[in-house]
Amino acid sequence: MPDIPTVTLASGQSVPALGLGTWNMGDDSRKANAEIESLKRGLDLGMTLIDTAEMYAEGGAEKITGEAIAGRRGEVFLVSKVYPWNASRQGVIDACERSLGRLKTDRLDLYLLHWRGEHPLAETVAGLEELQRAGKIGAWGVSNFDVADMEELMTVPDGKNCVANQVLYNLSRRGIEYDLLPWCQERGIAVMAYSPIEQGRLLRNDKLIQISKAYQATPAQVALAFLLEREGVIAIPKSANPDRVAENAAAAELDISDEDWAAIDTAFPPPREKRPLAMI
Ligand code: NDP
Repeated sequence: MPDIPTVTLASGQSVPALGLGTWNMGDDSRKANAEIESLKRGLDLGMTLIDTAEMYAEGGAEKITGEAIAGRRGEVFLVSKVYPWNASRQGVIDACERSLGRLKTDRLDLYLLHWRGEHPLAETVAGLEELQRAGKIGAWGVSNFDVADMEELMTVPDGKNCVANQVLYNLSRRGIEYDLLPWCQERGIAVMAYSPIEQGRLLRNDKLIQISKAYQATPAQVALAFLLEREGVIAIPKSANPDRVAENAAAAELDISDEDWAAIDTAFPPPREKRPLAMI
């Protein structure tokens, strides 16, 4: 089994730095078996963090996740997200209950505000804190928050209890390295890197293909290894193919040389100035 590194959240839990995404799962019953098998394979290989959301297939991905974790809930660090329009103080509580029902569990380990909407942050945070006090969630965080959003969050009551910010981050989207990533690292707020292989688009990059060949690896593995090098970063690749999940897990075993990291920096230059947070 690959030795997957861990990230310790501000709430004290240690979670794998390589987890499992679920976007697009649950939208076609013919694919359900492969999706469930893929998630189970990931759990078997130590990718025991699953990222889902009420948005994905309008609850369908949470149902698939519920099937995959049945009988092994204790092994899993379960993350879901609330739609911004459900993120009023009471709305967030009701949405969480619906997610728990679909996931067939009594507790989320981490609950995220999917992106900023019109409800005041103070209200959303009050609802999240209430869920945490009631034992319905272990911790809470946000998603698609840029530095200014995070700074605002820090000013609302209990806003500093945020443990994670889930954002678009991969080799071709390095903008957060300029400001948001160090901002989060300094405060012990985990960065969850979504679309870590740019939804597959990165895999056609010639430089990445060339470097991966030198390690008998795949471009996906090198792209994931890049994220695993970063302190406090959790990558959540999605695959509905058990063999590709195993391939992704094995990224944890890659040991890329400094020379090749430098070549990767040349092919995918880090930012030299502020870029607004990109989203998918
Ligand atoms: P990813 O970068 O994880 O790419 C997923 C795509 O890559 C799928 O088409 C998958 O196909 C393919 N793939 C996965 N592994 C391999 C591999 N080893 N070789 C070749 N192809 C591969 O994109 P996502 O957008 O899904 O991001 C990951 C997760 O992040 C999401 O599933 C979701 O949980 C989360 N997310 C959160 C967002 C937010 O706003 N908070 C926004 C976007 C994503 P296949 O399944 O057929 O293997």
